[in-house]
Amino acid sequence: MNLARRGTETGTGHALVLGAGISGLCAARALAEVFDRVTLVERDTLTGDGTTRRGAPQGAHVHSLTVRGAAVLEEFFPGFADELAADGATLATALSEVDIVFFGSLLRNVPVGTVLQTSRPFLEDRLRAKVCTASNVTLLDGREAIAPLTTPDRTRVTGARVVRPGAPDTAEDLDADLVVDAMGRAGRGATWLRTLGYDKPVEQRMRVDVAYASRRYRLPPGAIGRGKALLVGATPARPRGLVLTAQEDDIWVLSLYGFGSQDHPPTAPDEFLRFAQELATAAAWEALRHAEPLTDVASFAYPHSLRRDFHRLRRLPDGLISIGDAICSLNPIYGAGMTVAALEAAALRGCLAGGTRDLPRRFYRSAAKSLRLSWLFAALADRSMPQVPGTRPALAALLATSFRATMRAAATDAEVATAVWNAVSLTGSPAGLARPRIIAAMLRNWPRTPTGT
Ligand SMILES: Cc1cc2nc3c(=O)[nH]c(=O)nc-3n(C[C@H](O)[C@H](O)[C@H](O)COP(=O)(O)OP(=O)(O)OC[C@H]3O[C@@H](n4cnc5c(N)ncnc54)[C@H](O)[C@@H]3O)c2cc1C
Repeated sequence: MNLARRGTETGTGHALVLGAGISGLCAARALAEVFDRVTLVERDTLTGDGTTRRGAPQGAHVHSLTVRGAAVLEEFFPGFADELAADGATLATALSEVDIVFFGSLLRNVPVGTVLQTSRPFLEDRLRAKVCTASNVTLLDGREAIAPLTTPDRTRVTGARVVRPGAPDTAEDLDADLVVDAMGRAGRGATWLRTLGYDKPVEQRMRVDVAYASRRYRLPPGAIGRGKALLVGATPARPRGLVLTAQEDDIWVLSLYGFGSQDHPPTAPDEFLRFAQELATAAAWEALRHAEPLTDVASFAYPHSLRRDFHRLRRLPDGLISIGDAICSLNPIYGAGMTVAALEAAALRGCLAGGTRDLPRRFYRSAAKSLRLSWLFAALADRSMPQVPGTRPALAALLATSFRATMRAAATDAEVATAVWNAVSLTGSPAGLARPRIIAAMLRNWPRTPTGT
């Protein structure tokens, strides 16, 4: 679909996307359908060699793509999952090859779909290659965006100033009809608004104090039996979690996390393994203790989730939007960030179908809808953890008990297990967990002790 060539009212011209992470790549794909030219500007020099890069250090940690996220990528790039699988990515049948232990209960093995499992660098490299095959997309890597360009009255952003990192005398002005801030959660686009005399969006922060530690291993196929992924979630009594996932080419990633400094995972290799042993199933532990490590243990501190309410701003300049983590950064343990980024790009595509008039306002409203349920679901799950600062003990206990009862039901009841899967894979609404049949199953499994497992 090329709206520009179909002669609709669109921004035929140049779109500049700042940041070539997942949201920047998906946005560039959507924009390339409408704009004559799209330029992706990325601060890192991109090697495409599958390694973790400086601007996306989270790539060293597990990056689960939800079924919904994979479906959105498939809409943008038909055949994408099959191409990745042919290139070495793992396809796992959920739930028979994916073991999920939530609140101490292993979800019943029901057939619910296929999961695409890769490392973040692998996924991003392939996505970037796809986006850049479009003849109207250009990638400028090794360039840092430092300031917006505007009309003299500052009502329209007209481009961005970029430099080679660390070389201020290389400044170059890139003109554009639309600038997309996909520079991640640091919020450069929001700061630019203030520089231009607009309000900054209100920021909602939810302190979670989560830290990750991860290491990649080589494991032979079948190392943990039929399993290709194991997820063990945190509980109030043991606020620690583990994810072990087969990615591309028999490489697995083991990510450990914990809420609160006392439960942050260690990075010393022996202690890291001991932390894993506490959480892993016997089969997973047996495989891990003999596995060949391929990397050092990487760590990542994630102090708070963050949402910027751009959609509530009364005044916005034309020609500038933010997307992805720049709008909303979710607690990574729920594995929804890339999906939300892709959904926002799909929302952008939908808005562009109606032209570019009043685009920022229309886009922010649509993006807010795309992320609302994921934010709510993550906030409720976080609030079930007494370690999360500001959580009222009574609310934490009630939420934890209801999750625990639901997961107990999901251990034996196929319908409940499917509803839980639909919520976590974003294939259905988390509201599906509030159906009368699911609530009844939860009540039948209500535990005698109110919290913990
Ligand atoms: C530990 C951890 C684990 C996670 N696990 C998962 C998971 O399992 N599943 C999932 O879906 N999500 C996960 N996430 C979240 C996911 O990484 C993000 O939601 C997603 O990467 C958002 O993409 P983005 O493109 O908006 O931002 P980013 O990935 O942060 O990309 C921003 C890009 O902008 C570039 N940049 C920054 N400043 C500039 C500048 N001035 N000029 C030019 N370029 C610039 C950066 O180099 C980078 O390439 C995890 C996050 C963390 C921290």
